[in-house]
Amino acid sequence: MRLNVAVVGGGIGGLAAVLAIRRAGHEAVCFEQSSELGELGAGIQIGPNASRLLHRLGLSEALAAVAVEPARLQFRRWHSGAVIKELVTGPEVIAAFGAPHYTLHRADLHRVLVDAVADVRPGLQCVGADQDDDGVNLRFADGTFYRADVVIGADGLGSRLRRLVSSGVARFSGKAAWRVLVPAEAVPNLADPPTLRLWLGPGKHVVSYPVSAGRLLNLAAALLADVEDTESWTREGPADELAAALHGWDPDLHTVIAAAKTTLRLPLFDRPPLEHIGTGRMTLLGDAAHPMLPFFAQGAAQAIEDAWVLGRVLRNATRATAPDALRRYEQARHARTATVQQRSVRNGELFQLPNGLRQRVRDVALRRFTLTRFDWLYGYDADTA
Ligand SMILES: Cc1cc2nc3c(=O)[nH]c(=O)nc-3n(C[C@H](O)[C@H](O)[C@H](O)COP(=O)(O)OP(=O)(O)OC[C@H]3O[C@@H](n4cnc5c(N)ncnc54)[C@H](O)[C@@H]3O)c2cc1C
Repeated sequence: MRLNVAVVGGGIGGLAAVLAIRRAGHEAVCFEQSSELGELGAGIQIGPNASRLLHRLGLSEALAAVAVEPARLQFRRWHSGAVIKELVTGPEVIAAFGAPHYTLHRADLHRVLVDAVADVRPGLQCVGADQDDDGVNLRFADGTFYRADVVIGADGLGSRLRRLVSSGVARFSGKAAWRVLVPAEAVPNLADPPTLRLWLGPGKHVVSYPVSAGRLLNLAAALLADVEDTESWTREGPADELAAALHGWDPDLHTVIAAAKTTLRLPLFDRPPLEHIGTGRMTLLGDAAHPMLPFFAQGAAQAIEDAWVLGRVLRNATRATAPDALRRYEQARHARTATVQQRSVRNGELFQLPNGLRQRVRDVALRRFTLTRFDWLYGYDADTA
């Protein structure tokens, strides 16, 4: 019997879930609160642990048209830009992990997923869900209802569905991510060859990489931020504030900031791993379940892994066995996502060590880095794990 699965939230995680659940032979429909489907004007990395799953969902060609596979990964010193360590990536990543490491414009990735799902239902904000033995009634802000056999909450950091299945509040990290996108030709020093760069500095770090098939360069800076600030934040932050915060940093970064038309600023949150992310016929995925700091660039990748595992557990499920299948999904994902959440916090600390002995020890360790260092993360295959 085909299940009727409702996915609440049309972000990267929700859309991937629809595709994975349909691939498992069920019906899946996606409800999105925004009336216009889209994503932030910023970049995203999709590591091999997630790109292999997107390929299996039939998206290789569409991704190849918009993604970049950086040829190098560089760790740099904050003030001079001197390279601490360079790794050759591109084909080496495929040789090591069997799938590429992509850098993309978020809107491009989102569009690829929306096109593949084909029938996302926009403008429908879920405001509640009531379940009985046979199914779940979703309630929407416009007064309409939808009945499903199974409901997946893919409604992000502020998830309304999470409040129905679990407690716990998001935790402000004390940091904000500043993000800009500029035309590649405005920053020739950083555009060619396609490179994923990290500048590591005391209390701050910066990442840059090409997106949109190399036409644009994405820059993201993780800087300290006051908790009080978050209340009044808009999504745009003044470029001169970003430039001032990076005073004394590599001049190439200032070339990027000077070329930017808009500067986005987002407070960064995560949440300690939750014991329960589901009950009965409802479960969560992605940021709704395990929001994480972006310092391993894995939030969306983990949401895509979630989506794949949901497809796996639901493959042979019936209306009667679906709740058990969801519990198997939750068990299968708990340790993995908790590890990535915790290591993301730790990575942020390492990237931002103050000048001094610990920073020098970190750099010695970095110089010994090889791709095998990422086996635990990128070598993971959600289909067999
Ligand atoms: C600065 C920064 C950089 C990052 N970089 C990376 C990276 O390089 N690689 C990576 O893998 N991850 C990265 N991440 C993390 C990644 O962006 C998120 O983990 C990912 O987007 C989460 O996807 P999601 O689908 O779970 O949630 P979301 O993207 O938040 O989507 C949730 C969707 O649900 C909708 N929604 C919410 N409530 C309702 C409702 N009640 N009814 C209907 N719809 C609703 C929302 O409108 C939204 O469309 C980064 C995050 C940040 C902040």
